[in-house]
Amino acid sequence: MFEGLSGRLGDVLEKLRGKGSISQDDVNAAMREVRIALLEADVALPVVKDFVNTVKTRAVGQEVIKSVTPGQMVVKIVHDALVEMLAGQIGAQAPDEAEDDGKGEGERKKRDRVAEVLNINATPPVPILMVGLQGSGKTTTSAKIGLRLKTAMRKKVLMASLDVQRPAAQHQLAVLGEQTGVDTLPIIMGQKPTQIAKRALDEGRKGGYDVVILDTAGRLAIDEELMEEVAEVRKITNPAETLLVTDAMIGQDAVTVATEFNEKVGISGIVLTRVDGDARGGAALSMRAITGRPIKLMGVGEKMDALEEFQAERIAGRILGMGDVVSLVEKAAQSIQMDEAEKIARRMEKGKFDLEDMLSQFRQIRRMGDVKGLMGLMPGIGKMKKQIDAANIDDSLIKRQEAIILSMTVRERRHPEIIKASRKKRIAAGSGSTVPEVNKLLKQHQQMGAMMKQMKKMGGMKGLAERMG
Ligand code: GDP
Repeated sequence: MFEGLSGRLGDVLEKLRGKGSISQDDVNAAMREVRIALLEADVALPVVKDFVNTVKTRAVGQEVIKSVTPGQMVVKIVHDALVEMLAGQIGAQAPDEAEDDGKGEGERKKRDRVAEVLNINATPPVPILMVGLQGSGKTTTSAKIGLRLKTAMRKKVLMASLDVQRPAAQHQLAVLGEQTGVDTLPIIMGQKPTQIAKRALDEGRKGGYDVVILDTAGRLAIDEELMEEVAEVRKITNPAETLLVTDAMIGQDAVTVATEFNEKVGISGIVLTRVDGDARGGAALSMRAITGRPIKLMGVGEKMDALEEFQAERIAGRILGMGDVVSLVEKAAQSIQMDEAEKIARRMEKGKFDLEDMLSQFRQIRRMGDVKGLMGLMPGIGKMKKQIDAANIDDSLIKRQEAIILSMTVRERRHPEIIKASRKKRIAAGSGSTVPEVNKLLKQHQQMGAMMKQMKKMGGMKGLAERMG
């Protein structure tokens, strides 16, 4: 297992704690670790160098927010720069509006956006060309895209395999077509890829199809013949999208593959597959940087619906090894009382969360200092941050809420359901607040409880961290 960047930097920069801003020396020390972390994640060397230079300039002189170490501050700066670089124009717009609202609505939106990131607004039939090495996930992704365009945008889609070397590949697409209910071009043996492509577009026109997905042949490695064949197909079909499909585990080969396909064939975007695996994903950064083409989609499983819009945050967190939210919280909040935190975490894991727990959580949050700054440090925390923003948590508010809970009896804190009108009046009077404020707190507690249940379903904090990572 790799050591996350936050861990590495924590050690290197621990001694610099308490300084007001990040110095050139801090940055130099930190960048040595950043460089190693990126190389370990399989980012190509020239890309690492460029990236480190950008971040260096940004980091020097930055204020270090209260309650985090300069190391953590650097992690945040590195993380933000990485997200920016990975996101490019696509992807940057999505995460916020696609947040899950707990009803699966966000999940649905995120999936539907798959269709939106593709440029398919030309006159039908719009050709989409899928290119890449053999085994990268081209055929699977073709069918996934076909299915999504059909379900999310009600597009009529035709798929055709141009792989004449491997009849099994043509058959595989036909099977996936049947499985997804997306039409495939009837197989005629002995035709050349360009002939099949022409036939597919003809059929597309005649059959009133909106989109024609052309799945080209792959090879185990780059070879000239393959490049010429694919370039020829591209020339005669003039596709609206030429998507390079690559496996997230491709590692250092990413650079050669992306460069070759981009220069010899020309690509409009990248699809990263097997993001569900445990690859660090450095290839994504290399390919984005070297081709300048956006990473549009990512495959997150073998099933036909396992396709999502590319999420830069997720890959950035993984490249930096910052998936473990819990350890980051532990590090950022040095003053946190761990036994208390663990107790709550264990109760949360069981789906238990009463007002006593809420009280100690409020206290911890206050102890952490800058709540928002801390949240910003955690990868993939957008979702929680939104909830916290929605709950309008700030320091003075937290103090008022603490006062309300402190005015309750222990029994009331353990069993909030017994708090009816007369108790509410007493609690409001005792805490110098109002009954609506007491109601609001109780409602917030319920919401947090529901969130905890949700987290329990996802396998507790660990599961949450894994999902975010
Ligand atoms: P092609 O040779 O490029 O057409 O690759 P295929 O589409 O045949 O995919 C090769 C293998 O990778 C198949 O077993 C797929 O199920 C699997 N695969 C494709 N995309 C993903 C993904 O996003 N996640 C996982 N876990 N497997 C994938």
